[in-house]
Amino acid sequence: MDSSLHRDVETVEGALSADRNGRLQISSREGEADEDDLDRGYLLEVWSADGKLLYRSEQLRGQALGPLPTGSADSNRQHAHSLRLASGMRLRSISRVHRLADGNAVIVRLAVSQEPLWHEFWEMATVLGIGLPLTVILVALTGYLVAARALKPVDSMAQRAAQITAEQLNERLQIENPKDELGQLGAAFNNTLARLERSFDQLRRFTADASHELRTPLTAIQSVGEVSLKMPGDVSYYRDTIGSMLEETNRLTQLVDSLLTMARADAGRIQLHRVEVNLFDLAGETVGLLEVLAEEKQQTILIDGNRSTTVKADRTILRQSLVNLVHNAVKYSPEHGEIRLRIHETEQDAIVEVEDSGPGIAPEHRTRIFERFYRVDKSRTRAAGGAGLGLSIAQWAVSAHGGTIEVQSEPGSGSIFQICLPKHVSSVAVR
Ligand code: ADP
Repeated sequence: MDSSLHRDVETVEGALSADRNGRLQISSREGEADEDDLDRGYLLEVWSADGKLLYRSEQLRGQALGPLPTGSADSNRQHAHSLRLASGMRLRSISRVHRLADGNAVIVRLAVSQEPLWHEFWEMATVLGIGLPLTVILVALTGYLVAARALKPVDSMAQRAAQITAEQLNERLQIENPKDELGQLGAAFNNTLARLERSFDQLRRFTADASHELRTPLTAIQSVGEVSLKMPGDVSYYRDTIGSMLEETNRLTQLVDSLLTMARADAGRIQLHRVEVNLFDLAGETVGLLEVLAEEKQQTILIDGNRSTTVKADRTILRQSLVNLVHNAVKYSPEHGEIRLRIHETEQDAIVEVEDSGPGIAPEHRTRIFERFYRVDKSRTRAAGGAGLGLSIAQWAVSAHGGTIEVQSEPGSGSIFQICLPKHVSSVAVR
């Protein structure tokens, strides 16, 4: 406003002149502004240097544009200030000393109304004063509604999740949109539930199977004891009874040992104490342990292959897996059968193979025989004394060494179990 007033005061000054009598004349120059033009937008006062009013715009209706600024005769001084007329109108005015062509100085005061500006200001203040709180309320309300709508699935998911207990692990969260973040969260939760359900199932199956396996020898001991108590017999009869009870007790002890091994393995409490193990020697040691059983069935056990193959392994744990394989080979091979242990190695691995002349394993059972308590023919193997834990323990023992255990077999033509162990151990997790 000030700079446009400054510009305009110069235009006004250009239109001022004095006539021959020294009277002030306001004239239009090259159509820039005439008196009317000047009066139209601007309020003008022209004062003589000695404080006499020479001109005042009609629109001022006699009202003064305030007192003359002090020192206003100084031609370099220019004052801009705001003022209010008696009518209440707010103005911005600029006063400047102007020297007319005849050398007389006049004071030109030009003012312009600030009312449109104030009007705009109040309009803006009203809009902001009412509109802003209203907008804030509206935004808050919309935000609340949108958030409530967006979080509704979380609420229903939380309610559903709270209802899921160990007995209802087959329940799943309903996922409305699997692509958004909530959907992904729900899917992750459902996956966790699926894993939990599997673990619970395994645990239930394990408990049921273990109880069943423990119950069988206990029932046998109980019934043998009860029968022999009722029947009067001689010393040899009681010897036989005690002998068969001890057999069952032995089976129980083995079963409990296996269960303990697995429980400790599951809990990750078994530490490997790795030493240099010669596999040929280990095979000889294993055969030595099971020779008696093989002799009972007049079976031959042969060991051949590389005598110098060694691995860094926990001798006891590795021997346990080999004992389980050779024991199975003895159990499932017929009388006069042949069992062959072969040791060889590749650049990376040391390999032990146990080949038997047993009935072989059908393809549908081949992958499942490593599961806990899995037996191909329950009645046949029960007589042979297995609870279906030997292979799963062997598999755990081998994988604890970072190795693998595989079987090649065809029904009717024997089986070859192959343990493959890495020769160079970095760090292998025990599980
Ligand atoms: P088990 O103590 O019953 O032998 P395992 O876990 O050692 O338990 O074996 C699981 C099942 O795999 C056995 O019940 C048997 O049916 C089958 N199996 C294991 N080894 C042999 C083998 N050498 N020949 C034929 N079947 C075998």
